[in-house]
Amino acid sequence: MPTIRPVAAERLPELLRRMPKAELHIHIEGSLEPELIFALAQRNGVALPYASVEDLRKAYAFTNLQSFLDIYYAGASVLLKEQDFYDMAWAYFERAAADNVAHAEIFFDPQTHTARGVAMETVINGLHRACVEAGPKLGVSAALILCFLRHLSEEDAFATLEQALPFRDQFIGVGLDSSELGHPPEKFARVFARCRELGLHRVAHAGEEGPPAYVWSALDVLKVERIDHGVQSAKDPALMQRLAQDRIPLTVCPLSNLKLCVVPSLAQHNLGALLDAGLVATVNSDDPAYFGGYMNENFLQTFAATGLAARQAWQLAANSFEASFLDAAAKRAHQDRLNEVFETFV
Ligand SMILES: [Zn+2]
Repeated sequence: MPTIRPVAAERLPELLRRMPKAELHIHIEGSLEPELIFALAQRNGVALPYASVEDLRKAYAFTNLQSFLDIYYAGASVLLKEQDFYDMAWAYFERAAADNVAHAEIFFDPQTHTARGVAMETVINGLHRACVEAGPKLGVSAALILCFLRHLSEEDAFATLEQALPFRDQFIGVGLDSSELGHPPEKFARVFARCRELGLHRVAHAGEEGPPAYVWSALDVLKVERIDHGVQSAKDPALMQRLAQDRIPLTVCPLSNLKLCVVPSLAQHNLGALLDAGLVATVNSDDPAYFGGYMNENFLQTFAATGLAARQAWQLAANSFEASFLDAAAKRAHQDRLNEVFETFV
């Protein structure tokens, strides 16, 4: 860790914006802005149950995870062609580049699309083409993580994996998302074991609304390498110790937690406590079009509300590269650039 000089409160936002960072918890379908939903609906002749962009945006007042998911799946219904998936991902990459996101590991939900008759190939090819172009054109390296929807069966997850395997070289791992409560990780034990045999990276949402027990089973049954969210882990000291000891990263999403009422206010968010406990916590945007902010907005609002300082900013950015699935040389290069920004910032 380099010597982190204190930074005046009024200069901290600029440092947060400028520091390079990795985003490890972004659902690409959750980056679909109302304007793009309407543009794609028009292009594809899809009727929407909302009269206007404003009307749709007004519906974004969520009370819990499920109330969000209902609108999220409706928004995804406009995605039909390969170009639609490309356009959605590209719009995200432009925002990521503006936020100095240097690397992104992006979730996608194939079942949301294949269930509507969209081919796996259409989904993956469109997203992957955007990932390949984002490096040279925007300076954002990117990889895809295929997520299984946990409210569906394990059999359905297996069928989805089979459909995706011809495109094995276009995604690096699998995840588990959607409605957490009532769908514990162990429901997907066999399919995750198969993914492990296939050499795929494994992550899972756990401990967002669900109990610490779900985090334990994501670790011990699914053998995941990262926990997505995981903020409920703080309720279980033994679990906190395990996460710190094994350096299991948590991909924390503060604005998402606020919007879905996981925390009553950002000031009460436990991000600082997770860092203090030595956990490899990171900041991420989850579903930024729905939760009111991309990466930098998550950093800015959380730091303003909780009083975190330059030291934690460096730690969170360093954690994001450590927690990524990049190789050691790439991690080191990002780390060096991060240190350079902190050393030269005045
Ligand atoms: Zn998520």
